[in-house]
Amino acid sequence: MELNTIFPGKWVNNYGIITLKKGKESIIKSKHPWIFSGAIDRIENISENGQLVLVKSHLNETLAIGSFSKSSQISVRIWSFNPSTQINKKFFKERFDYAFNLRKNLIDLTKTNAFRIVNSESDFLPGLIVDYYSGYYVIQFLSAGSEFFRNQIVEIISEQEDCLGIFERSDTESRKKENLPIKKEKLLGELVPEKVQFKENGMNFYADLLNGHKTGFYIDQRENRQLLKKFSKGKKILNCFSYTGGFSVYALKGFANFVTNIDSSANALKLSEENHSLNDISPNKFRNIEGDVFQVLRNFRDENRKFDLIVLDPPKFADSVSNVNKAARAYKDINLLAMKLLDENGILFTFSCSGHISRELFHKIINDAALDSNREVRYLSILSQSKDHPVLSSFPESLYLKGLICSVN
Ligand code: SAH
Repeated sequence: MELNTIFPGKWVNNYGIITLKKGKESIIKSKHPWIFSGAIDRIENISENGQLVLVKSHLNETLAIGSFSKSSQISVRIWSFNPSTQINKKFFKERFDYAFNLRKNLIDLTKTNAFRIVNSESDFLPGLIVDYYSGYYVIQFLSAGSEFFRNQIVEIISEQEDCLGIFERSDTESRKKENLPIKKEKLLGELVPEKVQFKENGMNFYADLLNGHKTGFYIDQRENRQLLKKFSKGKKILNCFSYTGGFSVYALKGFANFVTNIDSSANALKLSEENHSLNDISPNKFRNIEGDVFQVLRNFRDENRKFDLIVLDPPKFADSVSNVNKAARAYKDINLLAMKLLDENGILFTFSCSGHISRELFHKIINDAALDSNREVRYLSILSQSKDHPVLSSFPESLYLKGLICSVN
């Protein structure tokens, strides 16, 4: 249906119009929510960054409605493939509730009260992340479009019955591509503490929602931490890139013998100590080493140290396609060292959160490390991100976390 018949006159003038090049309607058919600048033939009536635009075919059919970004290569992020959808507070409220309801059915809220409510494109809200930590909401406006509607979105969240405070963590690299300023602040609840306590699978944690990594905690690893707990009994564990001690607390609650944590961030390790004591774990059961994993693993190798189980959960080594080769070498380096440090019948939990490293490449890296360390490696489980970080089938880009539980002989 032509939109002009639904919203005559003035309404339509509020929209910009982008007309796709011939043949590029296939993007809309594939329900992929991004339109790159190269697919666009004409841009009309744009004044503001993030403004609503109608997407038209070269035959002038209106196909979708989205928001326009003036500076990003991703020119349009689509809000709806029904172009007559009104993009307003009601629209955002419906999509927010839809996303929240999915989580309510997925997560045992009596044991876990920190999870992702809105996972951007995969929850039909491109450029928007909303994480929940026991009554506190953390928002990331990652695109010009989500920024354009920030007031409506913040209002919806502030109207949630249990909302105690709202933090904005729009301090991501992606904002630069959208020509948006970096922002990190409390939006609601002046007196709200930055360090918030929450539950995960019945354990207790603190997260620093304003200054911690991402939105405070790596909630995408929740299910993998639970798996580690089951492997931990009686084991001597090395937890590399330990951040605030998530994997370590789970391992010790699963009766690990001892956990050695390594992280380069003193602040993260300080919170790690607090997280252990919050779960009544004796300081005799773990050690936190502040250092560079690459160096500490080499030292351990030279000292001929051995472990029963090693966790490798590094930061994103590849932040662009051009970094993939360098990142692959770094992943191989730590995996090779870890395999050398594992005792007979060792277990390796290894991860990559770089979206640019494919699952196939990750498995090749692990196999290369196995060959070079002369160990036999078998994949016991193939892991990914937690269920509250769903992946929309038409948007495979949101599948970023790859993990393996390996038996190393
Ligand atoms: N496993 C953690 C998350 C790890 S995030 C969890 O489940 O909570 C990656 C961590 O690696 C960050 O805490 C960061 O401080 C740390 N880091 C980054 N580079 C490092 C390096 N070269 N050596 C040690 N730690 C590093």
